[in-house]
Amino acid sequence: MAMTGLQIFKLLPKTNCGECGVPTCMAFAMKLAAKNAELAACPYASEEAIKTVGAASKPPIRLVKIGPPEREVLIGNETVMFRHDKTFVHPTAIAIAFADNEPLSNCGHGIAEVRDYCLERVGEQLRVNLVLVDNFSEEVKPFVDLVKTAAGSTGMGIILRSSNLDALEAGLKELPGQRPLIHAATPANADAVAALALKYDAPIVARAATIDELVALTTKLAALGLKDIVLDLPADNPAATLQYNTLIRKAALKNSFEPLGYPIINFVTALDDASVVADASTFLCKYGSIVVLDRIKLEVLLPLMMLRQNIYTDPQKPIQVDPKVYPIGETGKDSPVLVTTNFSLTYFLVSGEIENSGIPANLLVVDTEGMSVLTGWAAGKFSGEKVANAVKATDLADQGKHRIIIPGYVSQISGEIEEGLPGWEVLVGPGEASDLGSYMKIQDAR
Ligand code: SF4
Repeated sequence: MAMTGLQIFKLLPKTNCGECGVPTCMAFAMKLAAKNAELAACPYASEEAIKTVGAASKPPIRLVKIGPPEREVLIGNETVMFRHDKTFVHPTAIAIAFADNEPLSNCGHGIAEVRDYCLERVGEQLRVNLVLVDNFSEEVKPFVDLVKTAAGSTGMGIILRSSNLDALEAGLKELPGQRPLIHAATPANADAVAALALKYDAPIVARAATIDELVALTTKLAALGLKDIVLDLPADNPAATLQYNTLIRKAALKNSFEPLGYPIINFVTALDDASVVADASTFLCKYGSIVVLDRIKLEVLLPLMMLRQNIYTDPQKPIQVDPKVYPIGETGKDSPVLVTTNFSLTYFLVSGEIENSGIPANLLVVDTEGMSVLTGWAAGKFSGEKVANAVKATDLADQGKHRIIIPGYVSQISGEIEEGLPGWEVLVGPGEASDLGSYMKIQDAR
């Protein structure tokens, strides 16, 4: 039964030592109540607290860690069905599969592409997260060779996929301390694969043909002492996978059904690229924690990376950049000063247009708590007074030309800025960032 933050607080030591990562016992109690923390983070919890709070605060979907510490991938720990209810927590890990019946040199080329792939968008680097090594040959040597190539070349977390126990163990031996994900324990081989997972301290995929079989399998694996489990319930088509994913998430969150309280792995099996993107997008949104693709193609990865970034940002905390002056190009004393907000999408659009114009400029980013220009203005976070104060807090007053360019959509704040910055000329720029280049060229010619 769920406990409130106050009920949990009463059972905590109330010393506010901060060792759990938050400053007070009350703050920790609130996190436990929201299932965003585990009681184990408090080293001073009493036996009574462990007994009473431990079960009640356990996250409904287990947090599973895959890969070496420096490239660790975290999945699970989700607490909501819908992103707008609060936020999704750990972004879906995108994995690329390579089969060991392909020539090693071909795989090595593809693995290098996985390693090097990086999309930069609004200040974040978006990458592939895992490599799946498939023991298609069912032989040990080619599997181990490919595992070595994948791990050695990328340093990334590896998913070992095989039904050959000797191959699995040989692969595990190559990856000490790297927590590869074992794929998979099935109702037929559960004891033997579980023994490998325990021996090598590796997370494990539980794969079954039906929900009932999956529940029985995870119950058995948990009884054997395995905690880090990932669910695989294959389906004939993406619609059925979507249904299974939703059913599993609902069972875990709404019914606190422990045998399904684990992250999910989905395999994309479509043939053409457009269908791969469509299916993978569906699983990214609902509720695949790992999505495995069989190809590395820029036109497939681009939409998936962008979608994942959008889905897994906290809707209550827009991505922000630091409020300060950003010199763009070789700025000098007469370089123009432009103003915008610290909503990162706005910042990257405006700075990109300034850069493209080829005219060096100082971009003053005002703290609007991550709101865009019009939203910030409507919320009183992007006022003339705030802009004037932001200018005063910098050394922009040393500029030769005391001239500042504000976004066209907030022309109404120009008077207030002039009042707050005597001696400064306030110019109203274009409303759209895309018109900045031509506007700046006209100003530059003045
Ligand atoms: S570690 Fe325990 S005692 Fe210390 S602040 Fe956190 S909950 Fe309180």
